[in-house]
Amino acid sequence: MIWQVEALRYGTRAGGRTRSDSFLFDDHADTPHAIDYFVWLLRSGDRTILVDTGYDAEEGRARGRPIDLDPREALSRRGVAVEDVEDVIVTHLHYDHAGGLHLFPGARLHLQPAEMAYATGPCMCHDALRHPFTGAHVCEAVTRLYAGKVVFHEGAGQIADGVEVHRIGGHSKGLQCVRVRTEAGWLVLASDATHFYENVHAGKLFPIVVDAEAMLRGFDTLRALASAPDLIVPGHDPLVRDLFPEVGPEAWRLDRGPSKPVPGL
Ligand SMILES: [Zn+2]
Ligand SMILES: [Zn+2]
Repeated sequence: MIWQVEALRYGTRAGGRTRSDSFLFDDHADTPHAIDYFVWLLRSGDRTILVDTGYDAEEGRARGRPIDLDPREALSRRGVAVEDVEDVIVTHLHYDHAGGLHLFPGARLHLQPAEMAYATGPCMCHDALRHPFTGAHVCEAVTRLYAGKVVFHEGAGQIADGVEVHRIGGHSKGLQCVRVRTEAGWLVLASDATHFYENVHAGKLFPIVVDAEAMLRGFDTLRALASAPDLIVPGHDPLVRDLFPEVGPEAWRLDRGPSKPVPGL
């Protein structure tokens, strides 16, 4: 199957954010650096798969990071109702990716066992490691597990014909990227395996890291999985909105590749 892929932006954070929040050991650490927040929509025939759920307004208030758009509204603008989403690939359990699991109560979740173990185990005793997680989101994943609605993929797995997940270490313990067969070739939704183009293409570590070596090896894995380097789509880069064609308000079509050259390639 060939899939159509869209990035839907639900938030942006610019004020007070600098390159030191995006890159370790950077020469221009004080330069402002904005971050975008996306969910990704995969469609083929009558199948719809959502990659990550974003987070809701309440989580935004709790973290002082307001969203611009409820993730459900982002989907409804693309003609997708909550009930249409039967499968959610959860790339990892950080608040900005799993903070909307409760918004899709009927969906089956696709997760790596290593992520569930990490988010519910002794590492979460440390403030520094726990910070990107919110207990209620992790509990929602556990509740879904007990409802028989979690599918675990160990390492590599297939969600549908042409949609695969691959575990990449470094940023969290059980992060998975999503590899999708498209008109342009194998497209890789990196999620937080590379937040920005610069992380993967310049080999720069993101500061939220549990294993630096694994993160760097992950950059090689992304390159190996994508049919071309410009088919690696970073999880949080505002450049995505500039490089890919806009197909609606806050929606960019990814599956035909970028319409401009990716800087730094
Ligand atoms: Zn993350
Ligand atoms: Zn993230």
